[in-house]
Amino acid sequence: MSVRPVRPVPGPGTAGTGWCHWHKGPSGTAVLIEIVEQGSGPGAGVYACAPCREQRRLVPYSDQP
Ligand SMILES: [Zn+2]
Repeated sequence: MSVRPVRPVPGPGTAGTGWCHWHKGPSGTAVLIEIVEQGSGPGAGVYACAPCREQRRLVPYSDQP
């Protein structure tokens, strides 16, 4: 298992990092899993924390082909 640098978590109120969309709660280990394209406006990032990634076998966006 390789160790990846984890981006620092931005302050409160910042959408995205620091939030796990799987257990719907804050997390210090959340990483980007996928970017959901939306019809209007910018795409939204979906993040998952380490335990959720393990349970669901999620692959971080940066590790996907
Ligand atoms: Zn989670």
